[in-house]
Amino acid sequence: MAQILDGVALSRRIRAELASQITKEGLSPGLAVVLVGENPASQVYVRNKARAAEETGILSQTHLLPADTTQTALLDLIARLNEDPKIHGILVQMPLPPALDPQAVIAAMDPAKDVDGFHPVNVGRLSLGLPCFVPCTPQGCMLLLREVLPDPAGKRALVIGRSNIVGKPVAQLLLQADCTVTMAHSRTPDLAGECRRADILVAAIGRPHFVQGDWIKDGAIVIDVGITRVADSADAEKTRLVGDVDYEAATPRAAAITPVPGGVGPMTIACLMRNTFLSAQARGL
Ligand code: NAD
Repeated sequence: MAQILDGVALSRRIRAELASQITKEGLSPGLAVVLVGENPASQVYVRNKARAAEETGILSQTHLLPADTTQTALLDLIARLNEDPKIHGILVQMPLPPALDPQAVIAAMDPAKDVDGFHPVNVGRLSLGLPCFVPCTPQGCMLLLREVLPDPAGKRALVIGRSNIVGKPVAQLLLQADCTVTMAHSRTPDLAGECRRADILVAAIGRPHFVQGDWIKDGAIVIDVGITRVADSADAEKTRLVGDVDYEAATPRAAAITPVPGGVGPMTIACLMRNTFLSAQARGL
């Protein structure tokens, strides 16, 4: 039976360590979170990030902009935040309304404040193996993995999904950890066969319970990044969050598995706090 990789407990531990480090070093890290429009899921994420910042001793500013904000107005705000010495991390909550260009907004950020790790400079540095802001969700996946496998060198890792924010960077990190990495995606034939060879399986697809229990290799470590809200079968009025992996069916085969919710999700926020702390520490502020 798999060990449950408890992201809630680990994220609490990380945030408590950060809080004491911030006090010890006398730092005043500042995080600016920008939300354009009124996407309800994004509003929840932004609130959670602001609350986590407060609990960690990080000053947080939330900038709520109307859905009809122009590209120029958003770029002006980014420019002000780039110059603000109290701000060490800038996060623009995605997705942006369709009229705005997310790549232009990310490129306008000072890479030294890009705590999401999405700026082309940070993406390039990650692929070169140079110091950079490591994107939060992939960083959280690696911390969970290392809880049960401190040295994953030589293991066969399969990443399902090739997005810029999860699949590609998590594959880079697994490669840096000396895994033999395979990336699978919507055009991969025999995904079940690829899964059955994987010692480490990271699922970042966004399709509920897509990875079947009998695809899991015995003793594999399963990191489930997917989060989809579905109707609750027991109560039609309610919804619940499910991952990409059929958790119940995978648990008897895996050595360790992340639950959804309570696995990768809280780790993403903890790693955002960590990156903001590192940014403040780098400037001695
Ligand atoms: P995305 O839609 O950008 O990418 C999904 C990937 O899945 C694509 O690369 C695609 O090739 C692959 N895919 C789609 N159908 C497939 C199939 N049939 N077989 C194999 N691969 C297939 O999504 P994303 O932004 O990478 O997010 C993926 C999931 O992770 C979503 O559920 C998202 O909500 C979740 N997520 C969670 C966190 C967190 O903090 N836990 C953070 C980011 C994303």
